[in-house]
Amino acid sequence: RTVYLDGRFVPFAEARVPIMDRGFLFADGIYEVSAVLEGRLVDNAAHLARLDRSLSEIGIRNPLSSEEWTRLQTELVASNGVREGLVYMQVTRGVAERDFAFPAADTPPTVVMFTQEKAIRANPLAESGARIVTVEDLRWKRRDIKSVALLAQVLAKQAAASAGVAEAWMVEDGAVTEGSSSTAFIVTGDNRLVTRPLSTAILPGITRQAVLRLCAEGDLRIEERPFAVEEAVAAAEAFYTSASAFVMPVVAIDGYLIGDGRPGPHTRRLRELYMGMALES
Ligand code: PLP
Repeated sequence: RTVYLDGRFVPFAEARVPIMDRGFLFADGIYEVSAVLEGRLVDNAAHLARLDRSLSEIGIRNPLSSEEWTRLQTELVASNGVREGLVYMQVTRGVAERDFAFPAADTPPTVVMFTQEKAIRANPLAESGARIVTVEDLRWKRRDIKSVALLAQVLAKQAAASAGVAEAWMVEDGAVTEGSSSTAFIVTGDNRLVTRPLSTAILPGITRQAVLRLCAEGDLRIEERPFAVEEAVAAAEAFYTSASAFVMPVVAIDGYLIGDGRPGPHTRRLRELYMGMALES
């Protein structure tokens, strides 16, 4: 497997980052993930736009243009022969003597890119639906930035793993913010699709954006507002979205079945619609 590190394609085993990298010392960096389907990047322009915004919000210059990012991603996907999976990109504030304040302005950011093979389309979990748990949202106040400081998400995902389920939805003031690595949605009995509005409280999901766009034509009314765990448990359907999970049905929350405990019709249709969009991108 080949990875990209600071301007070069190198073998996986030889890719090393210095201990003084600010990503390692301070989690001072951001990341992005694009899916690969049939060897092609899915909705990648939107992911690169969010990467650019994450960088600008924390004052790191984007070291590459969108065209350069795309060319490098495409080259890496091809050289690793990835048909289905993802491309991970990370940019940190670079390598410097340890000091909280930013290093000299000419310090080059560290750029890392690697691929992972993963079943996205034929994911058995999408057939059965995912069971999830809820946990307290322990994160900071700028969750709109796709920061590599992910300790709260690590603990949330481990709580899910310990409970033997796939995902954890994080809860703040009684309302669901989002999943540890996904956007949370519910469908009410009267055909409303409910998801939290964009703000600094959640990451602006690229898959969320695509699903809302796809929904505009269907029979679901979109309601962007916070929803409580109790409302989710009583909902007709629930699902979560992410670049790697696409649209994932949720069939149980904290052990309570959603609907009849099987993936709902709206969720299945949205997964199909999203898949169609992804295959065309
Ligand atoms: N929310 C969080 C906290 C995430 O980490 C992710 C993805 O990793 C998402 C939402 C979904 O975002 P996207 O659809 O852009 O993958």
